[in-house]
Amino acid sequence: MRRCPVCGAAMENIDYEGFRLRHCHACGGHLIPAARLKAIQQRDAIPRGELQEEVRARFTASTAEPVRCPRCRITMRKQDVRLPVVRVQTDVCAPCGLVWLDGGELALLQLAHEATDTFADRRALQQRAMELETSPERKARFMEDLARLPDAPSPLGDALSTAENTLLLDVIIDAVRLLLRRR
Ligand SMILES: [Zn+2]
Ligand SMILES: [Zn+2]
Repeated sequence: MRRCPVCGAAMENIDYEGFRLRHCHACGGHLIPAARLKAIQQRDAIPRGELQEEVRARFTASTAEPVRCPRCRITMRKQDVRLPVVRVQTDVCAPCGLVWLDGGELALLQLAHEATDTFADRRALQQRAMELETSPERKARFMEDLARLPDAPSPLGDALSTAENTLLLDVIIDAVRLLLRRR
């Protein structure tokens, strides 16, 4: 059994959205065939609430340390996945075709993908925007949270892992949606 490239715990094979991948229960990381990542993101068998819960529980910040491929041991290449206000840094081994995602990153990518998909739902977005307009309190809080977001490409993890920061994933997802809408 291969060891987790970040924390060294034994990884297990799991079934995730119908795909077989390796998971570290200790740190929450996933090792995924690169070619499968998009397909996994496009499935939505896992309820949104569960994905949010996983992000809250597991996501801290993308590992800045070099990560060695659990299969061939070479240092994986850092690759940014840029979203409007969120950056996830993945680790890629091109020869093995593998991607390492730190704890919570897979769930975050799935949520971000979902946010992009629901961009088509303009009515819901307009409703949300109206709610913000008609509730000065909520809008003020939203703007405060938004201002507190690190400028891309700072990792979202800093914001989420700071104890006194009340930033919630919902706010970020809202921000992503609003930013997408503005384009
Ligand atoms: Zn681990
Ligand atoms: Zn490799």
